[in-house]
Amino acid sequence: MARVVSFGSVNVDHVGYLSRDRIAALADAHGWFPGAGETVRVDAVPADIHDDLTETFLGGKGANQAVAAAAAGADASLLGCVGDDEDEHAVVETLAARGVAVDGLERVDGPTGYAAIVVDETGENHIAIVAGANGRVTPAYARRQGDRLRDADCLLLQNELPADAILAALDELSGVERRPTVVYDPAPADGADAVLAHDAVDVVTPNEGEAAALSDALDGFDGTVVRTLGARGVAVDTGDEAFHVGSPTVDPVDTTGAGDVFVGYLATEFGDGASLRAAVELAAVAAALSTTAEGVQTAVPTRTQVLDGLR
Ligand code: ATP
Repeated sequence: MARVVSFGSVNVDHVGYLSRDRIAALADAHGWFPGAGETVRVDAVPADIHDDLTETFLGGKGANQAVAAAAAGADASLLGCVGDDEDEHAVVETLAARGVAVDGLERVDGPTGYAAIVVDETGENHIAIVAGANGRVTPAYARRQGDRLRDADCLLLQNELPADAILAALDELSGVERRPTVVYDPAPADGADAVLAHDAVDVVTPNEGEAAALSDALDGFDGTVVRTLGARGVAVDTGDEAFHVGSPTVDPVDTTGAGDVFVGYLATEFGDGASLRAAVELAAVAAALSTTAEGVQTAVPTRTQVLDGLR
């Protein structure tokens, strides 16, 4: 069984389905609002936006990717921090129920991470993130988790934790004989170039916006670039070889988190020793299927459903 460790964020996601007219009104009222497909970091979410968010789910890219890896059949765990509020219990219980080991999670003072996710009528998502406990993950925590990081077959990193903690986790892998394949999802793109410059990163998985924002850093990156292109599939470039994998045609109802499902499946296949092409093909089917249900973790297809989708 592939051991997949996700060192990353966990949020309580507050989700609302709003028209683009309502989104434009909120943008006018507050002077800001995330664009379609965009994720922005904020200190707090204004009350009127919060009031429009009618559903609550567990989220955060770190947690989503761990849940996707567990559904894909991995021995999956999440490393990161939760707050000392009531959300913390829901986070820990829900992750455990979804098959994700949480024994490495640490509790810190203050709130658990919070995300406002607005899905518009075209299925595009607009995301604002309040870091909470995710912003309290430190290099010292990463060092305490060194054994867990090194013992993984595949280590998943995203850009929702402080950069110094992510870099410290990568440093834990330097100079060791056997280390995991490291997959880095540079989302959100802001500041991700510093992590891309670390030589322990093997695979990077930008979406189109992130690839554009990070084009210089990606040019200098000597690992494998796996660009996700939404309904247009996935473009892979190892430096030696480049190929494209198409997306199955689906009728999407909510594309939120498709990238996380993709990465969770990709990591599991890498951890099991699959070829790059086979891993990308399976992950693309899993991600496409996830867009046909609402939510993120609740929309992750099982491995059996994905294998049926391949036939
Ligand atoms: P998100 O931010 O919603 O998690 P993303 O922007 O990181 O996603 P995308 O490139 O939009 O990433 O999607 C990731 C993968 O999911 C795509 O490469 C594709 O395999 C699959 N996918 C996404 N949207 C669709 C779609 N409409 N039809 C089929 N497959 C899709």
